[in-house]
Amino acid sequence: MSIFALCLPLGSATAAVTDNMFRTSNTSWYCHGASLSDPYYCQTDNAELSVYLQSSVDAGTKASVRAALTGSYDATHLNTGEVSSPVTSGSGETDVIYQQDSTGLPSSTLGRTWCNDATDIERCDQHYIRFREGTGIDRMAACHETGHAVGLTHGAQAFLALGQTDPRLACMVAAHDHHNKYLGDNNSDNINATY
Ligand SMILES: [Zn+2]
Repeated sequence: MSIFALCLPLGSATAAVTDNMFRTSNTSWYCHGASLSDPYYCQTDNAELSVYLQSSVDAGTKASVRAALTGSYDATHLNTGEVSSPVTSGSGETDVIYQQDSTGLPSSTLGRTWCNDATDIERCDQHYIRFREGTGIDRMAACHETGHAVGLTHGAQAFLALGQTDPRLACMVAAHDHHNKYLGDNNSDNINATY
């Protein structure tokens, strides 16, 4: 590697405090077709983020997801759009499928996000997000799981790593706190540097 390549990060436009966009030097997986019990996420495949809310998602959770999408994600380079019927096969699948079903979620977990159709080692054509039932999934939880579905990691997988509850991670802190309901500058900068 030339010294010029080594210097490239200095010229980056991002002002992020850390790189918490998959893949980093602290993520241990390649993008692959994962599952609820093997819940690995990746970047999404492009800036057009189509989403579908399954009928299992209750009204309050739908409102939280929509608030996160329009209030936070649409303020980045991502352009979100809700579809009335999902595409679940082929090369242009709906990017995020939200569902609400506690089955298979560990008791301490409000939600899980996994890629079910990898495009390559970094990107995924379709992520699933499953939320716990009956717990009032708020905007923080919606922001957090949607963040995974576009590739945002926890602090431990960021490079350089941050504490799991470092406030600069905003809604990507790895502990539920309804105050951390926004994307914040670091996550937004990493999204905008990627898409
Ligand atoms: Zn998480």
